[in-house]
Amino acid sequence: MKQIVFATNNKNKLREMREIMDGLYEVLSLEDIGCHEEIVEDADTIQGNAKIKADFVTSRYRVDCFADDTGLEVEALGGAPGVYSARYAGEHCSYQDNVNKMLAAMKGVTNRKAAFRTVIALNLNGESFFFEGRCDGHITETQRGTDGFGYDPIFQPDGFDQTFAEMGHEGKNAISHRGRATQKLIMFLKNTQK
Ligand code: IMP
Repeated sequence: MKQIVFATNNKNKLREMREIMDGLYEVLSLEDIGCHEEIVEDADTIQGNAKIKADFVTSRYRVDCFADDTGLEVEALGGAPGVYSARYAGEHCSYQDNVNKMLAAMKGVTNRKAAFRTVIALNLNGESFFFEGRCDGHITETQRGTDGFGYDPIFQPDGFDQTFAEMGHEGKNAISHRGRATQKLIMFLKNTQK
């Protein structure tokens, strides 16, 4: 099977991506290729950060690579935390810290609309491509569910009565921002293989 590097060490993302890419590509992590350097994600857009990660790996290791970056955009917060979603509650904060801060920020707020947005940057055969996936929903009043990661326990996608953390991996992958961006990536990779 062909190999492709996914510029991440996030175990949850890697598992999700391997499930989605199953049978098409063997997905290698940064650890798998011996990349232990910290990649500084200092762009001010989601697309910019995805590109920084993919370019770092391709230029250092001369491999085809893709990287994703995701942000949670909350309408009542003017699109925050967006590109800063990982550090919303501060540098080195936990997922639970972010969830707590979001629930506090949204206390008493009636407009709870939010969207996850993922951009995947792909470097393939010397060219760059981008794929975007979006999932609309709302921030729940309390956290529910134990599956998933990040803001999953407080994000309920439109058309469902469960949060991402209550849906199970397969259910989430089918409709999630990353799932949708990945489906576009897969379609593209399948077509370029012809
Ligand atoms: P990243 O930059 O793509 O790692 O994503 C930034 C932050 O968004 C992560 O640290 C998580 O807190 C959150 N996040 C990313 N993807 C998801 C998801 O699928 N569910 C819940 N939270 C997510």
